[in-house]
Amino acid sequence: MFKKERQDGRRKALVAGGAGFVGSHLCDALLAEGTDIICVDSLLTGSFDNVRALENHPGFRFIEHDITSTLTIGDEIDEVYNLACAASPPRYQADPSHTLLTNVVGTANLLALAEQHRAAFLQASTSEIYGDPEVHPQPETYRGSVNCTGPRACYDEGKRAAETLCFDHLRQERVDARVARIFNTYGPRMQQDDGRIVSNLIFQALQGRPLTVYGSGRQTRSFCYVSDMVAGLIALMRVSPNPGAPVNLGNPEELPVIELARRVLDLVPGAKDIDFLPLPEDDPQRRRPDIARAKALLDWEPLVPLSKGLASTIDWFAALSPENPDRGKIREKDAEGTYNGYEHQPSP
Ligand code: NAD
Repeated sequence: MFKKERQDGRRKALVAGGAGFVGSHLCDALLAEGTDIICVDSLLTGSFDNVRALENHPGFRFIEHDITSTLTIGDEIDEVYNLACAASPPRYQADPSHTLLTNVVGTANLLALAEQHRAAFLQASTSEIYGDPEVHPQPETYRGSVNCTGPRACYDEGKRAAETLCFDHLRQERVDARVARIFNTYGPRMQQDDGRIVSNLIFQALQGRPLTVYGSGRQTRSFCYVSDMVAGLIALMRVSPNPGAPVNLGNPEELPVIELARRVLDLVPGAKDIDFLPLPEDDPQRRRPDIARAKALLDWEPLVPLSKGLASTIDWFAALSPENPDRGKIREKDAEGTYNGYEHQPSP
């Protein structure tokens, strides 16, 4: 019903949020398999540095654009991946209304674009839609326990509404929409000061500062290496028939946060001990994906063990300094209104 024939036999994907942590790895993987990329990003939390290596690739184009405004693309597009949204709590809470609008209006704008191009659509949803779960591990059928008035609601409720938009477009046969519920993902190109646990701990360890653990550290998380996540996203975009339901993507290996901190301490020479701080509001106690659906439908499961993934993430962070201490740091716009030295190009 959604299929279209390409004249030139090539595939072109639009990756919104493509200059971010996961999005830039997705751009790398898609270009490597021969898919041309239009990377759309406002550079709110991403960095042009993440895609700078692709800048001169003939199949790569970058558009600086905020998805809360409509977007028109002249080229034919086959796939739209929507990863555009700040993912770290301090960043998405800095401008909560914009976060909510990014997820609702931004997703609606990209669905309209996908409909216009008859492109398949993949929404990067999140395990946060389960809130502080009463069911463990979390299968896709669990409806979640989200506080709709709390400080995380702009993100959690925004992502829930974005899922609604996707399934409404699918039910109405307007867009071949798919939804990935992404669980904690880590790896090179995370921002070092964005308040996410893996990057926080590694950054503190490399600086010889004590590692911050919130609460007792007995709360659990599951961490998926970014290459595994990207493989899952592409598999979900391509699987036929469309599952017609959200699919959890993440690593089911669960560990207490304190254990993660200990592993980082073991891997970074000279790292200092642990500092315990009070638990932030609405911080979930347990988080572990049930990935039975992804295994059955996509024949996918994570392959990179935490020890290996942590080591390569630490290597990447260690290589940032001293030559380029700002790489991976959140930047502010400069006086000319550009980020990271990237020349502003007006949206098409
Ligand atoms: P990120 O912050 O590194 O990337 C998000 C990208 O989106 C950035 O480049 C940012 O500049 C861009 N962006 C934000 N708002 C935008 C807007 N309005 N218009 C255009 N671009 C905008 O985060 P990430 O970790 O790469 O996450 C990517 C996606 O995956 C997000 O949608 C996030 O919600 C989802 N996700 C990530 C994780 C994780 O652990 N990394 C977990 C669950 C869900």
